[in-house]
Amino acid sequence: MYRHIRGQGAAVARLSAVCKRGKVSHAYIFTGPAGVGKHTTARAFAAALLCASPVAGAACGECGQCRLYYGMGHPDLVSLYPEESTIKIDQIRQVVSTVGRKPYHRRHVVIIDEAEKITAEAQNAFLKTLEDPPGDAVFILVSAHPHALLPTVLSRCCEVRFGRVAPGAVAAELSERYHVAEEEAKAVAALSGGSIGRALELLHPGLKAVKDRVLKLAANPSVREILRSGVHNKREAEQWLEFLSLWYRDLLLYRLTRDPGLVVYADHLPEIEKTTWPVTTLLAAAESVEAARKMLRANVNPRLVIEGLTVHLGSILDS
Ligand SMILES: [Zn+2]
Repeated sequence: MYRHIRGQGAAVARLSAVCKRGKVSHAYIFTGPAGVGKHTTARAFAAALLCASPVAGAACGECGQCRLYYGMGHPDLVSLYPEESTIKIDQIRQVVSTVGRKPYHRRHVVIIDEAEKITAEAQNAFLKTLEDPPGDAVFILVSAHPHALLPTVLSRCCEVRFGRVAPGAVAAELSERYHVAEEEAKAVAALSGGSIGRALELLHPGLKAVKDRVLKLAANPSVREILRSGVHNKREAEQWLEFLSLWYRDLLLYRLTRDPGLVVYADHLPEIEKTTWPVTTLLAAAESVEAARKMLRANVNPRLVIEGLTVHLGSILDS
C-alpha cells in the first residue's frame, strides 16, 4: 500500500518490482533529503515484505499478516531509532540477536531510521549480519546523510534514491491530506524545497508568525523592530532571509507580469498589488537580500548580517 506516498514514483516502482519478482536483497539504504517520504516508503515496503499475498508488489492490506501489521504491529518488524542522538552498539547487538531467532511468520524486517547515527563501533559490529543475515531477514536503512556511514556498510546495501518532491505535489499533499487552504499550501510548498516534512514544519504556528512579521517589516524595515522581532541565531536569520527573498521575488514578478498566478505569497496579494516601488528598486532590494544570505553562509555573525541588511534596505526603499 504505497498510495500515501507522493512524488516518489521511481522508488516505489522499483520496490514494487522487487517484491513482485521475489528478488529481495538483504539490505537497502533509502537516501535523499529529509521529509520527502523515505520513512513512509520504508514502512510500506516492510508491509509488502511481511504480507502473505502481496498485490502488484504491495501489501494487500487484508491478509492476517497485514491485519497484524496495520493493527497492533507485526511481531517480525523491528524499528530502530537513535537513543540520545546515536544508535549504540547495544541496540545493534539486540537486533542481531533478534534476527538470529526464528521469525513469527516468514522473515524479520528491520527499519533503521537516521542510520547515519549508528556509532562506528556499532557499524563494525553489524557488518557480518548485514552481509549475510540469517533466514530471509531484510534490513532497510534510512538516511539523509549516507556519506556519514562507513563505506563497508554502504557497499553492503542496495541504494534507493529519493528526490525532492515537485512544489505542485507538495501543495496537493498539504491541501488534500492536511486540509491546508489552497493559497497557503501553494506559498508553503514554494518555500519547502521539495520536502513535505519541511512544508509541515513551516505550517507550525510559530513559523507562520515569523513569516507574517517578516512581511510586515519588509515594507518598512527598521533595525530595532527586526532585532526585537527575534533574530537570535543563524537558523532564524536564514528563515528570515528566505521569507524576505521570496517577498521581493513576488513584488518583482508581479510588477513585471501583473499575473497573480505567479505570486508565492498569494495570501498577501492585496499588499503586493499596492506597492509602487520601481523595478530597479526592487531588483536592488532582492540583490541585497541575496548578498546577506551569502554572508550568512560564510558564517558572518547573524545579527550583524541582519543589521547591515536592514540599514541597506532602508536606504534603497526610501530613495
Ligand atoms: Zn497482506
